[in-house]
Order: sequence, then structure tokens, then C-alpha cells
Amino acid sequence: MGEGKVFPNNEVPLKEIPPRCECGALLRPDVVWFGESLSEKDLADSHMALRECECLMVVGTSAVVQPVASFPAIARNGGAFIVEINVEPTPISGWVDESILGKSGEILPQLLESVE
Ligand SMILES: [Zn+2]
Repeated sequence: MGEGKVFPNNEVPLKEIPPRCECGALLRPDVVWFGESLSEKDLADSHMALRECECLMVVGTSAVVQPVASFPAIARNGGAFIVEINVEPTPISGWVDESILGKSGEILPQLLESVE
């Protein structure tokens, strides 16, 4: 968080919690947390991928937080098959191609097993 460096860390378990950089600053995961903004480049890359994808899996989300909440519709407009997996119905449940209610941690392994 001090220098803005990004690097992989596959330490399991972490030696120190919270983990720290060599410079002493706290380390954070390279993800976008609630309330943070996506970069313009990441958004543009995402929109390109959404318009070209054949199948989009929407997993473990309320599907209401923008800008990502619009991703399923963008993919659908490009012709993608949309699969939603969530513990409860969301605003997109009524129009996606498949809406599977349940815990993603249980359903995803079952899906993987069925295609293997
Ligand atoms: Zn550092």
C-alpha cells in the first residue's frame, strides 16, 4: 500500500498477518474492494471481453453494484449464454439463461465434475 507495487504472493499460510512489504508498508490483495473504482483500462478490457464471450458465469453477487452489475446485460447483448449462481434470486435472475440457487462453493465443484 506504500509503493503501489504489484507482485504474486503464494505463501500459504502467510508468515505474518497482516502481511508487509520489504519497505514495511502493509500489503493488500490486488483486487477491487467495495467502494473502490475500477481502472478505465480494466473497464474497457472487460467490455471488449463481454461483447465477445460465448458464456458468462455470474457467481456469488447481488448483481446490483455498478458498473459490474451491467456486465451480464452487455454479454447478453453480444449473444452470450448467461449463467447465474447465487444463494438467492437477484434482479437478473428473471432473464438469465440459467439461474442456479445455492452456494457457489458447492455448485461450482459439481459443475466442474459434470464436465470432466
Ligand atoms: Zn513497499
